[in-house]
Amino acid sequence: MESGPDSSGDKDSFAGKDRKGRSQRRRRRRGRRGGKRPEHKENQNTSGRAEPAAHAQNGEKAAQRPENGGARDPDSRRRRGGRKGRNRSRGERRQRPKPQVIIADLPDTNGVPVLVDTHAHLIDKAFDPDRQGAVERAIEEGVHYIISMGTCLESSRRTLDLAASYAGVYAAVGVHPSDVKDVNERTIREIARLAEEPKAVAVGEIGLDYYREGAPRKTQRRWFREQIRVAVEVGKPIIVHCRDSADDIYEVLEEEKAWRAGGVIHCFTGDDEQARKFLDIDFHLGAGGAITFSRSEELREVFERVPIERVLLETDSPYLAPPPHRGKRNEPAYVARVAETLAELHGMTTEEVTRLTTENVRRLFGVGPEPDGGSIAYSVGETLYLNVTNDCQNSCFFCGLLSDCVYKGHNLKLAQEPDAAEVLAAAGDPTRFAEVVFSGFGEPTLRLDVVKEVAGELKRRGARRIRLVTNGLANKTHERNILPELGGLVDAISISMQAESPEAYAKVCKTKGIEEPYPLVKEFVRWSKNYIPEVEVTAVHMSGLIDIEACEKVATEELGVPFRAHDYVRMD
Ligand code: SF4
Repeated sequence: MESGPDSSGDKDSFAGKDRKGRSQRRRRRRGRRGGKRPEHKENQNTSGRAEPAAHAQNGEKAAQRPENGGARDPDSRRRRGGRKGRNRSRGERRQRPKPQVIIADLPDTNGVPVLVDTHAHLIDKAFDPDRQGAVERAIEEGVHYIISMGTCLESSRRTLDLAASYAGVYAAVGVHPSDVKDVNERTIREIARLAEEPKAVAVGEIGLDYYREGAPRKTQRRWFREQIRVAVEVGKPIIVHCRDSADDIYEVLEEEKAWRAGGVIHCFTGDDEQARKFLDIDFHLGAGGAITFSRSEELREVFERVPIERVLLETDSPYLAPPPHRGKRNEPAYVARVAETLAELHGMTTEEVTRLTTENVRRLFGVGPEPDGGSIAYSVGETLYLNVTNDCQNSCFFCGLLSDCVYKGHNLKLAQEPDAAEVLAAAGDPTRFAEVVFSGFGEPTLRLDVVKEVAGELKRRGARRIRLVTNGLANKTHERNILPELGGLVDAISISMQAESPEAYAKVCKTKGIEEPYPLVKEFVRWSKNYIPEVEVTAVHMSGLIDIEACEKVATEELGVPFRAHDYVRMD
């Protein structure tokens, strides 16, 4: 296969998809520290598809954010209060009552994807009348997970207590830029201590706010940096407040190598260029109520070009309620409205957006369920993919086979290889789709009999177009030319080449048990033209690792077939 099941898309999108930063975080979560910056992707997609493995500013914020919810930093209180203050603080910590568990379990969803509100302020006084009700309504609406923000030391503690009370509620701890005036080193040490707690999944809400300027800019920058360092130290991502400050935010993130922590630009309302820059340093963009507003056409256009794999859903509740709740208190249950808007923008179903963005949350914050394993058939947009094996002659270094086998929120790790009847049962009615593609994490032609039987039956059932994604090594594996057997069954074939020379192919694809595979792939391309109506050669955009121009030259000039470079789609 190519680099990952197929993310078809005709729209331009920002690439910025690398896996190194993510891998670093994963390693760090295992107890090691990573420090190397992820590579920036230069290739901004593109026209094509990326196959699975084969191969407000809160300008509309109506409510004024309360200053610390009325609470002051206890550290500054201690500073003023001397010994008495210190004693009280110690006592307070000792006497902090254990939070009462209110919701201990989440309902079973039977595999239906659930939503995550990645940015809420559940301890805001707007929720005082019915905080529990807001969480319960969210669950009823399928929003099973909520990440609630701390905005100062005290609110961070209270948010952690709240998180301890509800199964699906998690906390971010940190000091909001509007509240950093009284911060000192001890505050930061305490934030670091809180960030180590199991239900603290991020350091936030931190950042720079040059609109409200609750503290001098220099002060904001200092404590923003310090809190990023805390996040890197504890190995948890950051949640960034960015208001009229995108350039400085970017500069600080770059200088602090913040991709080591990863994170999200909360309630992103910037332009294409800003989006591209943040994506290039491995950050996610938070989509909130702002994208649902009627006057936010430009913002919607920006989000149309942001890969859905880099978007997180959020409400920023109690602020920024989407229609039809504009002007009223926002709450986590309304995050579904954001998902619907993104689905419209990306030509997906709301369920697909939910699955994908929830998977983004799981990978970034470690919140949410592992996708169920064993997807034999799964759809992305108008394409149905069939995943028939996890076996392959290659071990391409970017392949999802080598990591968690999750693609676009679908876990493609097969418990066992399905037979043709199982594949057909999973595929259902093929006329619902514009195209059926044999492509998962693995090489479909290793199950040639299944591919032929399924393709034939799907043709009989009215499949409009059947495409095979392959590494082009089938003739060697089967010790015969298999292409005549596919004639009439397969309308198109995408052959993953990934290299312009035998040496480059060996480096990228690491073929096992086949000597000199590269000429065999080229020969397979030539033979394919005799039997399959549409033949293309593909390679993955991986700047500095795969020479796309050279691959294209081999495909078009030497082999005489169209070439398509597709985005590397993050799968780790
Ligand atoms: S290892 Fe196999 S399935 Fe994965 S990208 Fe390479 S050829 Fe495709």
